[in-house]
Amino acid sequence: MKSKKSIAILGSTGSIGTQALEVLRVYPAKFEVEVLTAQNNAALLIQQAIEFKPNVVVIGDEGQYETVKNALDAHDIKVFTGENALSSVVQMDAVDIVLTALVGYSGLKPTIKAIQAGKNIALANKETLVVAGELITSLAREKGVNIYPVDSEHSAIFQCIVGEFHNKIEKIILTASGGPFRGKKRADLEAVTKAQALKHPNWTMGAKITIDSATLMNKGLEVIEAKWLFGLSADQVEVVVHPQSIIHSMVQFEDGSIKAQMGLPDMRLPIQFALSYPERFKSDLPRFDFTNYPSLTFEKPDTETFRNLTLSFEALKRAGNMPCVLNAANEVAVAEFLKDKIGFLQMTAIVERCLNTISYIEHPSLEDYVQTDKETRIKALELIN
Ligand code: MG
Repeated sequence: MKSKKSIAILGSTGSIGTQALEVLRVYPAKFEVEVLTAQNNAALLIQQAIEFKPNVVVIGDEGQYETVKNALDAHDIKVFTGENALSSVVQMDAVDIVLTALVGYSGLKPTIKAIQAGKNIALANKETLVVAGELITSLAREKGVNIYPVDSEHSAIFQCIVGEFHNKIEKIILTASGGPFRGKKRADLEAVTKAQALKHPNWTMGAKITIDSATLMNKGLEVIEAKWLFGLSADQVEVVVHPQSIIHSMVQFEDGSIKAQMGLPDMRLPIQFALSYPERFKSDLPRFDFTNYPSLTFEKPDTETFRNLTLSFEALKRAGNMPCVLNAANEVAVAEFLKDKIGFLQMTAIVERCLNTISYIEHPSLEDYVQTDKETRIKALELIN
């Protein structure tokens, strides 16, 4: 085996991508960066490439290709752009692990290509499993590929079941911070602004996931993600609100015993574990001190106010292409909310309308998912305009 793991980071300039590079910077003897990719942020991509010396970078925005190429020529770093660039760089021989930190549906195709090429996946792009969980997990099984969760809740569950792989999970308990609007009722949410929704109490994250956390859609997507990662049914997944975000999630085994994984909310730890597994690397990340948290509290999620969680469970139970509809409608709704085109509560209304109108497909193929995604986006935009 090689002495270093070679990493491809898809989405290196985003929140997860930049934190992943912070992790990799600490362990130069353990990892090397083979590929970095970004959609728009050419300046940061160039800076990252000069520091981490990948073999290849991809800039999604073709208009910035020349800029990136000119900046990196002297450093002997190849630069690609264009629609198929992501799909081809994930298949490069030298790559061991692909960290998928793209936002939303865009992660689906490159993830499939990486799995087809036998690359292990560090999955930060939960939407990929929401859209096409069955297809992705069966392809991964067929190719002998491991999918290591980066999402903090799923990393927590993964950490709880290390050494327990032969023991059945009775249920998992996903913790949710409740987001910035915990305790609010529908009437309070009519007029909340983008700025208020973007203020998460515990985590600093990208805009899309921060809005998803405020609507609880993030937790809904995570329920579906957990189903596929851990082979569970919908009624084996429970959500509990835990505002301090110290317990990152729990597993209950068949003897009734519950394991929890705890720590300060810091994405660098789950990122690091996904890359270092089965090892744990010594780190200097801040340590949790119980005496600073005299009470860790738990409550039921308010699914009357935050209907997205209910809709997600419904989509999961209906299965087929319904989680794909849920995701596509939500991506459009969040994007339009971020453009101040719709209000906070309308996001959920759009998702619900799409779930009720898009035709159901019981066993979708990849083409069906692509079609469902497209159709749902058109429908969602129609509802808005
Ligand atoms: Mg999470």
